Amino acid sequence: MTHAVAQPWILGLTGGIGSGKSAAAQVFVDLGVHLVDADQAARWVVEPGRPALAAIAGHFGEGVLQADGTLDRAALRELIFKDPAQRVWLEALLHPLIREEIAAYLAKAQSPYAILVSPLLLETTQHAMVKRVLVIDVPEAIQIQRTVARDGSNEEQVRAILKAQATREQRLSRADDVIVNDRDPAWLKSEVERLHHFYLTLCGGQS
Ligand code: ADP
Repeated sequence: MTHAVAQPWILGLTGGIGSGKSAAAQVFVDLGVHLVDADQAARWVVEPGRPALAAIAGHFGEGVLQADGTLDRAALRELIFKDPAQRVWLEALLHPLIREEIAAYLAKAQSPYAILVSPLLLETTQHAMVKRVLVIDVPEAIQIQRTVARDGSNEEQVRAILKAQATREQRLSRADDVIVNDRDPAWLKSEVERLHHFYLTLCGGQS
């Protein structure tokens, strides 16, 4: 018997830059768990034809659009970097839309539970959407080393991003579950699988 879930049971997955959120998320996807990435949802809401893009162009001017009508992220970043009040305006516009987008996508879940992956899960109201929080945690040295290797950025750039994010302690204090991703990918996979069985039990699915 299949049972339709009107309100999906949602796990929030978060962690700092380079902690291994995407790597962990991929293991959940391979296990058949429906997943939405908040960064993707944030891009979808400003696609051409969506009301948010028109509102942004109306507010900031056509200079925030590229020739093909898509959002010029670098131009927009520049504008809000110079003027914090504009950032507040933009966030007030986008955050509710991003939440709606995430909710609509999560509602399509056919798996016993679904996942919201978000670097800003705990810093925004997105945490209100989830039943449980899984934090992927790594010591800072590994975090920097893996991010530098992945992005080709330098250590200083990564440290600047780290400073703007929540600290490990802040994140861990809000976690229901933690994976310390300081070993190899096989270990990460086994940890995700272990938690997956636990979540199936929690949400009433079959383990
Ligand atoms: P995030 O999504 O949190 O920014 P990623 O999942 O992209 O982090 O991981 C950062 C980098 O580290 C990626 O290149 C990823 O392949 C690598 N990585 C993640 N977990 C491990 C691990 N356990 N061992 C080795 N490399 C890893």
